[in-house]
Order: sequence, then structure tokens, then C-alpha cells
Amino acid sequence: MYKGIAASRGIGIGSVCVIVEHDLTFEKKKIEDTATEKERFTTAVETFKSETMAMAEDIKKRLGPKEAEILQGHLVMISDPTMSGEMGKMIDAGQCAESAVEAVCDMFIGMFSKMDDDMMRQRASDISDIKVSLLKLLLGIKDIDISKVEPGTILVAKDLTPSMTSQINKENVAGIITEVGGKTSHSAILARALEIPAVLSVPDVTTLVKDKDTAIVDGTEGIVYINPDGDVLSKYIIKREDFIRKQAELKSFLGKPTVTADGNEVELFCNIGTPKDAKKAIECDGEGVGLFRSEFLFMDNTHLPTEEEQFAAYKEAAVTMGGKPIIIRTLDIGGDKDIPYLNMKKEENPFLGYRAVRYCLGNEDSYLVQLRAIVRASAFGKVKIMVPLVTCVDEIRKVKELVSGIKKDFDEKGIDYDKSIEVGCMIETPAASLIADLLAKEADFFSIGTNDLTQYTMSVDRGNADVAYLYSTFQPSVLRSIKHIIECGRNAGIPVGMCGEAAADPLMIPLLISFGLTEFSVNPVLVLTARCIISKWSKAEADALTSKVMELSTEAEIVAALKEASKE
Ligand code: PEP
Ligand code: MG
Repeated sequence: MYKGIAASRGIGIGSVCVIVEHDLTFEKKKIEDTATEKERFTTAVETFKSETMAMAEDIKKRLGPKEAEILQGHLVMISDPTMSGEMGKMIDAGQCAESAVEAVCDMFIGMFSKMDDDMMRQRASDISDIKVSLLKLLLGIKDIDISKVEPGTILVAKDLTPSMTSQINKENVAGIITEVGGKTSHSAILARALEIPAVLSVPDVTTLVKDKDTAIVDGTEGIVYINPDGDVLSKYIIKREDFIRKQAELKSFLGKPTVTADGNEVELFCNIGTPKDAKKAIECDGEGVGLFRSEFLFMDNTHLPTEEEQFAAYKEAAVTMGGKPIIIRTLDIGGDKDIPYLNMKKEENPFLGYRAVRYCLGNEDSYLVQLRAIVRASAFGKVKIMVPLVTCVDEIRKVKELVSGIKKDFDEKGIDYDKSIEVGCMIETPAASLIADLLAKEADFFSIGTNDLTQYTMSVDRGNADVAYLYSTFQPSVLRSIKHIIECGRNAGIPVGMCGEAAADPLMIPLLISFGLTEFSVNPVLVLTARCIISKWSKAEADALTSKVMELSTEAEIVAALKEASKE
């Protein structure tokens, strides 16, 4: 058994096809006839563009525009005059086309891979994909045609590039295993869109398997078996059938309200990162957006987005949601999210530093630009404002004061907006939890950010693998904090939601029902799973389990009790 990252849920069983890495070494020649070499290079670039364009079109038809954006991004990058221009200059200076491609791509890869931000690092892997494709074209190397693999194939590769993934025929590929890539890598995104079970980052897997080996890919748990014995195989055949049956069962929850077994209705919203994701929220039957992480708009840009640019983005999302609530979180940067053009100071403890609302209030002019854009967008839907990383009452008061000023200005200028626009507070720090009663008097709603609440309550960096064993929302301290926050919100008569990952955790859901959470905000792909789990619990059953669990002393005991009672 091998462990990796669970990147796309489901069980795949089948016969291995290893995608061999080609040897891309070449002789670094000095070129005399640079014009002919330049033509060879241009032909390769043009072939790359037309092949990529065709693949992007195909992906757009099969999977949708968001997935096609990855390949369209490759086209934008190679069409960038800096990239191809630099390559051209090197050829003019007598380098062979292969050397020029390698040198320029490596320079960009080096630059992007040093950046702290995940999205920027992803660019490095995109450029690496472009480099490999161009070198193969120049060296005349042809890959195996993934679109023609036999039904029941488990693809095993070092990395599955977007260009490879685009050729996958969902009917034939039962699973994907790679040596690199994380949950947010492009291969993971595409595997999830194709609904193919995938386990990524299995060390040395390409050398551990050979063609025609039998493999099991458990994309839910992140486990891989190669040539399993009969017992394991039969267990997984049953598990696979179970998974398929449950997925079919989930479809029956489409278009239904989200209700507990005893008929209490709750709201089931989605977490999104871009205006385009709002479409996904609707397609997945989300009842609103509980968290629009506005920082992606800033991170995926080369400059601070202007009021008009931000307004266009928020309006697009609001219009897409068609009157369903959409909670826009104001800029949450710092910590692990860097925006290079802001030139933020390096800090000793970035998670405890100048981030989120602290940074925004310290840079009021640019914060006002964002708040104005959000308030303007409120004329086009049920837009709400949410403030991240609040630790004291002054912060929420100050944001409300800024919003009031904007409203007054808009009234004077006759600019349209929703007069009842709400300002809510993320509760994701122990400080906010401890003063939740005070914050509830100021905020129109709460949303519990368990990702950070767990990190700060347990004093555990959420990205540090060495202390990951302590990072659990099921720690008694974190559960008590969640219970307390919901109680404070309820006592004050304001709605309390949860937008941290825990809101979709099947083991957490009965506890949240019992505590009285009224809004669950989850990744769009998990809407139906969450709705199904919620439908299985009555308040009385959830209460009985919760009172037992809240008496337990350790995380392990709590998880064991919840697993035993699980209705999954
Ligand atoms: C959270 O902290 O739970 C949250 C939803 O915000 P983020 O993951 O963006 O920090
Ligand atoms: Mg957070």
C-alpha cells in the first residue's frame, strides 16, 4: 500500500499504463544559419499554439470554460513577446532552438517557483509544461496517445500535465496516480472536473509499477495498491460499488432544499474564488455564496485592481447568483498569501502579522476602493460584506464606519446600492471567539472560519506537516470554541454560518446541527454530499451524539465516537 494526496474522490481499479518520461537531452549546437533555425523554432511554436488551441476547445466542450482556461493560459504565455522574443534573440545570437527554449523557460520557472504564493508557483509548472511540449516538437518526439488507452486504464505518470489530461477519455481512464502535484495543482483540478479518482504525490510511483500491473486508486483516502491480493481487491470492488451507488443517490438531492431529518431547513452555500466560480456554485445547486475569497482577484493580477475592475468582478458574481446571497470577503492577504506588487514587508511571524483586516485598515485608501466596488455591486444582487481575521470590536466598528461613509457619499451622488447591505464578521481567531458576544452586537452575521480558527486555537501553522497531527477541528478546544460562537450569535439573534472546510465534513455535520448552525458554506462539488448528510440527522439524534462527544477528552476519542455514529 502506498500513500499520497487524495486529489479526486472515488475508487478506480484497473490496469496500469505508465506514461514514460522521454529523454529530452539534446546537443547544444552553435548555429550558423540562424534564419533557418528561427524558422524551425517558429514552426514549433505555431504547431504548439494550434495543438493547444484545439485541446483547449475540446476541453471547453467536454468540461467547461474554467478547465479550458489552464490551456488558454499556456497560449497567452507563449504569445507573450517577452518569452518568445527572448528565445528569438538567443537564436539570432547563434544558439540552437532547443537551447533557447530551455534557457528562457528555466529562467521563468526559477523566478515563479521561488514565490510564496501557490498560484504563482503553479505558473512555474505551466511553463515547465510549455517547455516540455516545445522541446518534444523540436526533437520530433511523439507521446503515447492517451485518448486511445484501453477501458479500465490507470494512468501513472510523474506529473500529469494539462495537455496530457486534456486527451483523457473519461470512459477509459479508471484512475490517475502521479509522483508530484497537490490538491490545488492543475492535474488535481482537471481530475476532479472529469470525476476520475486520483492520488497524487506518491513517491517514486513510476518506478514501482510497470505496464499491465493491477492497481487500486482510492482517491477519497489517498491510498494506492499495486497488484493487491484477493481480499483487498474484493474489499475495494465493494467499496467502488458503494461509492457509485452513493453518487447516484446524491443526484436525487439536486434542486431540493437542505433540511434535517426532522424538517429543519438550513442554508447550503458555496465557497468561491473568482466570479466565474459563481457559475459552478449555481450548477452544483448552491443556495448562495457563503465566501467569495476576493484576494484571488488581487493575486492573479499585476496591479492593484481598480474600483471599476473590482466592481465588474463583484457585479458579475452577483448577477450570476441571480438574487441568491453572496458574501464577499474583503482582502485577506498576508500569512501564506503574498501579492508581489504590494511589496509587503517580510515578517518573522506572517500568520500573526500585518494581514487581512489589519493590512486593509492600515491602507485605508485602497480598502475604500474595494468597499466602494462591493457596495456598488450590491445594486445587482444580495451582496454582503465580510471582514476576515477580526480580533477586536474596534476593527468591525471601523469597517462599518467606512461603509456608512460610502453609503452617505453614494446617497449624495445618487449612486445605486442596496441600502440594507450587511456587514458580517469572520470568527476565525480565539480572540474573536472569546468576545463573540460583544462582536455579535456589532456584526450583522457571523461566519466561522475553522481553517484559521483551528490553526490559532491549537497554535499550529496550518501548512506545517510536522505539527499536522495537532491540526484538527475535532480537538475539544476547537469544538468548544465553535459551540460558544454559535451560542453567542444565536443569543444575539444573528445568523451564524461556517465557511471553513469543516462545514462539509460528514463527521462534523451532526455537531453543527446540534449547536444550531444555520448556514453551511462548502466547496461547490460537496454541496450534494453535505445536503445528503444533513438530511440524515434529526436535531434530537444530533443532540444525543453531541452531548456524548462534548464530554470526551481527546481528539482521538471524539473522532472514534463520531465515526461509530456516522451515517455516511
Ligand atoms: C478559514 O480560515 O476557515 C477560511 C475559510 O478562510 P481561509 O481558508 O481563506 O483562510
Ligand atoms: Mg481564514
